Amino acid sequence: MGFSRVKEQKSLRMDPYLLIGKGGPELVGKNYALLSQASEAFEAMATEAKKEGILLKIVSSYRSYERQKSIWNSKFSNFKSQGMSDRKAIEKIIEYSTLPGTSRHHWGTDIDLIDASQPAEGDVLVPQKFHQDGPYVQLRKWMDKHAESFGFYLPYTDDPSRRGFKYEPWHYSFAPLSKPMLKDYLNLNHAQWILSEDLEGSEVVGKEFLESYLETHVKGINPTLL
Ligand SMILES: [Zn+2]
Repeated sequence: MGFSRVKEQKSLRMDPYLLIGKGGPELVGKNYALLSQASEAFEAMATEAKKEGILLKIVSSYRSYERQKSIWNSKFSNFKSQGMSDRKAIEKIIEYSTLPGTSRHHWGTDIDLIDASQPAEGDVLVPQKFHQDGPYVQLRKWMDKHAESFGFYLPYTDDPSRRGFKYEPWHYSFAPLSKPMLKDYLNLNHAQWILSEDLEGSEVVGKEFLESYLETHVKGINPTLL
């Protein structure tokens, strides 16, 4: 009895539609869209960072399935136009971008961050900008020290033994919500919820692809978030 109560608390028993970006979650935020608990934690963190001259700016937060699908399809056509095979194009997409229905951005708990006090030129979400003499080095150092105390963790760390997506020093996840959501997510029947024929490259994205992608990419994160 006791054990099953504990188990129930660990799961949010989320609606599968919400986990794959096809639900209508209640989101808050002026320049972003997050679940309210994640937004409160972010605002508290931003207030602290500001005291040290760092202006935390969210450039990406909640993203729907439809939005992810359009990112996927446009990257696919772009790589195909460079002469890649379907499989090669998909391998290239999943260096940084997710299969629609599998993005942590579908949950309203994950953010891509920059420092708005710094001049931004060109692509801001590139690892070099967060290292050496890049504009977001101060941001990264501050987040290294303080983010976890507000509940924010990097899923895609610079750990060479980690599989899946490449290192993303800009992507933070609000663990108090995203950890239980990932548990629910991993219990879904993924083939039923995620495989879709109106996706570019759907001949490659079958059951076998999905199973290995879940292992390497969805579970290939900072172990603290598993
Ligand atoms: Zn991200």
